[in-house]
Amino acid sequence: MRCPKCGKEIDGLCLNCTNLDELVWLDDLEVITCPRCGSFKVEGKWKVLRLEEVIDHLIFKLMRVHPELEVEDILVEYEPFTVRIRGLVSNTTVEVVKYPNLKILKETCIRCNREAGGYYESILQLRADGRALERKEIERANEIIDEVLLSEKDNQKAFVTKVVERKEGIDYFFGGRDIGRKVSRKLINEFGGEIKESKTISGRMDGKDLYRFTYLVRLPIYKNGDVVIENGKICVVTNARLKKAMDIKNRQTVTLKNPELIAKKGEIKKGIVVQMDEHVVELIHSVTKKVVFAEKTAEFEIGDEVFILECDDKFYTIPKELMS
Ligand SMILES: [Zn+2]
Ligand SMILES: [Zn+2]
Repeated sequence: MRCPKCGKEIDGLCLNCTNLDELVWLDDLEVITCPRCGSFKVEGKWKVLRLEEVIDHLIFKLMRVHPELEVEDILVEYEPFTVRIRGLVSNTTVEVVKYPNLKILKETCIRCNREAGGYYESILQLRADGRALERKEIERANEIIDEVLLSEKDNQKAFVTKVVERKEGIDYFFGGRDIGRKVSRKLINEFGGEIKESKTISGRMDGKDLYRFTYLVRLPIYKNGDVVIENGKICVVTNARLKKAMDIKNRQTVTLKNPELIAKKGEIKKGIVVQMDEHVVELIHSVTKKVVFAEKTAEFEIGDEVFILECDDKFYTIPKELMS
């Protein structure tokens, strides 16, 4: 084939007579970003992306390339905004350079709009059964919330509207119902306890009732290693999440239904076995250094270190392995 302009024998496009710039068509780029959170509106949807990713997406979407140009690589430079398209034309490597305008428009995203407007669909009421929440539990709850929000980056309702500290616990207000549900499930998965879900009508839209959901999360009174009385049995909590404990006398597993907390793990003292008979162990209390007589709950040897539980003016031994 000959070039219709210069008559040169060619295979494909004649590079002598082709204006490279015309091989690629690329219009100005318009990016919409939220000034509050920095997310981008892509194809009508708000997404958490890097500017580079949005630009790449737009270039692939908007760029038109002459069929004789086989694109191999696209490079984007920002100062000044330049798009370099490298590829092959008639087996020759060429580079086409484009300088489209990059317009960055600001628009508040749906999430930020809702957040600023105090929008919420669910409330998580974090409480502890029969006791105050511990600082550690609150810190962990905050971490779990951050984790859930992070994993829901493209969810336009993934935000905390407000946090209210009350004397009975903490209330978290979430943009979306599913955020409240996910966080409450993660909490009881980790701490045990239970969720009570309820809903109230918050308004109407398009003839449908809108609901607000409340997740009441009640963490158990006990934790692993705490000592409780369940149905008259003194037990060490072995799995707070599954409500399991072990009877200190017969080592049987007990399911906790209505336990009464008698000692937190950290309050239980140690002692050294100095004497014992069939029923009673004589111990030196590690704190008072006094001799204590405790009910024998397992076989010990002189010199063993055991835990001592004081309950109703009586002492009980707890084997070390139950408290690990
Ligand atoms: Zn030519
Ligand atoms: Zn935003």
